[in-house]
Amino acid sequence: MIPFVERFPVVGARETRSVTVTNRQDLPEGEYGFLEFYCGEPGCDCRRVMIDVLRPETGWSKIWATISYGWESLDFYAKWGGAASDPLEMKGPYLDPLNPQTEYSSALLNLFRFLLQSPDYVERLKRHYQMFRDSVQKRSGRQASLESNRIENKRKPLRDHRRRRQHLR
Ligand SMILES: [Zn+2]
Repeated sequence: MIPFVERFPVVGARETRSVTVTNRQDLPEGEYGFLEFYCGEPGCDCRRVMIDVLRPETGWSKIWATISYGWESLDFYAKWGGAASDPLEMKGPYLDPLNPQTEYSSALLNLFRFLLQSPDYVERLKRHYQMFRDSVQKRSGRQASLESNRIENKRKPLRDHRRRRQHLR
C-alpha cells in the first residue's frame, strides 16, 4: 500500500479528510487526519483503501489507528477474494490486525463510520482510488515498454548482422 499523498501531493493535501475533535469522552481533543493508502500492485483491482489516522500533535508520525475499508458490495469481495479471505473483513470498515492500533482505535473506527455516512466522502475515496490505479497502470505500462525497447535494442545488432551478410551474398 502506498500513500495517496505521495503520488498526488497537491490533491492529497487538499482532499485528505481531517476532523477536529472537541468535548469527547473517548478521544483526546484536537485534529485527526485520515490518510489514504492504495494498492500499488499492477493489474490488481481490490477496490479498497487503507486509512492511517495521524495527528499533528504527534508530528503526523504516530499511527493512532489503521482502518481498512472497501466500498463495493460483500458479493464483490466474496468473488474477488475467493475462499481464502473473509469478505466481511475486506469490505470493513474494520481495524486491521496486522497494522498499528492504539487504545483509541475503536473510537476512531466509529468516527470513520460517521464520515462514511457522507456520500461525498465515499465518492472521494472511489475517485482517489481510480486516480491512483490509473497512475499504477501507466507506470507499469511504461515499465513494460521500456523492457520491450531493451529487447528490441538487443535484437537490432543481430538484424544488422543478417543484413550485412545478405549484402555480402
Ligand atoms: Zn490490490
